[in-house]
Amino acid sequence: NKFEQLGLNESLLLAIKDLGFENPSEVQEKAIPLLLEKDTDIVALAQTGTGKTAAFGFPLIQKIDAENRDTQALILSPTRELCLQITNEIKLYSKYIKGLNTVAIYGGASITEQANQIRRGAQIIVATPGRMQDMINRNMVNIKNINYCVLDEADEMLNMGFYEDITAILSDTPKEKSTWLFSATMPQEVARIAKEFMRKPLEITV
Ligand code: AMP
Repeated sequence: NKFEQLGLNESLLLAIKDLGFENPSEVQEKAIPLLLEKDTDIVALAQTGTGKTAAFGFPLIQKIDAENRDTQALILSPTRELCLQITNEIKLYSKYIKGLNTVAIYGGASITEQANQIRRGAQIIVATPGRMQDMINRNMVNIKNINYCVLDEADEMLNMGFYEDITAILSDTPKEKSTWLFSATMPQEVARIAKEFMRKPLEITV
């Protein structure tokens, strides 16, 4: 099993076995050792269906301190469907890690219920930009101490008009963090986000 050579811990390897993943995909092989080894920013050009959720999900889960209930990571994604999909995947990957909670934040559902979930402790928040910005404005969530921020399908988020929300959200996070940007394409707006909010990102292409 080649997953064992990527530096993943026992809890993750057990979950991977349960899922029946036999070999890492290309983006996983490139991203996982890099992200586990150094606290670096990355820009990864990867399409959906390449296994990119696990490429950022596995290292993220391994780096989170499950004994600390503060929010440590934020994953932004374009749609409610993708948000729920990522949340489900992360929950499957982290099923052997006691105390690790992942919460999905998206529009069209009760904001009060989502705020309650966050209050109970969510180390990982997976959010759509509009609802996230709304909850920040209402002081329902604190992302001032996060260590990791993932921008998933960055080109899609920008296509959908989330530039303002994304920049407002990123401005509310600490400078000292790692940002991992995933995108299928690299239009100007994505490059601009990378330039303004990331620190010398390493590039991964698959
Ligand atoms: P994604 O590109 O993250 O949307 O993943 C696409 C699908 O591939 C998801 O259903 C994952 O559960 C699955 N998957 C991810 N990594 C692997 C792997 N290494 N082997 C088999 N399936 C995988």
